Amino acid sequence: MNIATYAAHRQDFPAARLRADFPILQRSVRGHPLAYLDNAATTQKPQAVIDSESAYYREINANIHRGVHWLSEQATLAHENARERVREFINARETAEIVFVRGTTEAINLVAQSYGRANLGPGDEILITGLEHHSNIVPWQLLCQQTGAVLKVAEIDDTGTVRMEQFERLLGERTRLVAVAHVSNALGTINPVREMIDLAHARGVPVLVDGAQAVAHTPVDVQALGCDFYAFSGHKLYAPTGIGVLYGRRALLEAMPPWQGGGDMIRTVSFQGSTWNDLPHKFEAGTPHIAGAIGLGAAITYMQQVGVHNVAAYEHELLDYGTQLLTQIPGLRMIGTAQNKAGILSFVVDGLHAHDLGTVLDSQGVAIRAGHHCAMPVMEYFGVPATARASLALYNTREDLDRLAQALHQAVEMFC
Ligand code: PLP
Repeated sequence: MNIATYAAHRQDFPAARLRADFPILQRSVRGHPLAYLDNAATTQKPQAVIDSESAYYREINANIHRGVHWLSEQATLAHENARERVREFINARETAEIVFVRGTTEAINLVAQSYGRANLGPGDEILITGLEHHSNIVPWQLLCQQTGAVLKVAEIDDTGTVRMEQFERLLGERTRLVAVAHVSNALGTINPVREMIDLAHARGVPVLVDGAQAVAHTPVDVQALGCDFYAFSGHKLYAPTGIGVLYGRRALLEAMPPWQGGGDMIRTVSFQGSTWNDLPHKFEAGTPHIAGAIGLGAAITYMQQVGVHNVAAYEHELLDYGTQLLTQIPGLRMIGTAQNKAGILSFVVDGLHAHDLGTVLDSQGVAIRAGHHCAMPVMEYFGVPATARASLALYNTREDLDRLAQALHQAVEMFC
């Protein structure tokens, strides 16, 4: 992502007007207007997404794919239209490459259990980085236990940047898969995924990108990236929980065995054996989260109307503003200072536990997250048990960050 190229878009970004699209942002919390800065955990939903989900239940609720009646036809159309919205959004070649799953976690587990178990054996290596979310660590550890494969980790440096010379060195004879975050949820670091993919591909190694923290904040083009798998969650993209996407290159998905068995993923079933449905249905056993997929389609339409490039530029400007404010707070240390960063402000304050900070901020209506952010190895690297984390979305304003800084100043005065 080259932020500079988006700079021209950011001047007139209508964040204040967009806030009106999100009903929850109109409410007050503990007697204060809500400053919601926990977007890396989950984003709030615009009215258009809420309406699309409830319209499905009100008007066309039916099970999909198998029905011959009108409602089922309408529900199937809406569900498959959402798949097309996703395809267009990430520029996949075809909808067959878009598998609906519960979220990033399920997408990565699917690849580990299907691609991984079919292609990895004892001594084979999976390469990840030191800034991964547990969702991009534990599925590979399970796979290693099952197959005898070995997990390799390219470390980060003190800014939270992956040591690329180490990444390159660890890409060896036995590397069978690379799995990297596009953006770190704990640090905000934007990994040079294109470069990582090129390095891996030069050695014939496929790459999975964990895009959970990227899709709502930067344009994603899976063909331009050249990745083999791309995983993301709807709920971090203004869509409902319980719906997400695994993009996979057709050739890989075709060759992979199904992961879960059940309805919809089969072509024929007999007691002698079964045959599999076409892509993407081969990986979608059982009744899916139909309303969620429709909501995801609506969220993508919303993002496209706002313009992902505009969002990227605007959030980057907010990030700079927030960084300036926070670095003026006595005793505050930023965790994650990579040069290429998305809208995540992770920090610790001398003498104050992150959870206490979170509680003080909450009393002012400022919602942030405190903890290990499902990235314990990152916490271990920086020698902290937890950080406080403010994370941005398109509806955040400078005022939200002013209130964050103000509440932090108060906390420091009160406790330090
Ligand atoms: N990967 C990253 C980088 C994340 O930030 C998260 C969630 O915070 C996940 C994976 C897991 O996403 P989900 O819980 O929606 O499956």
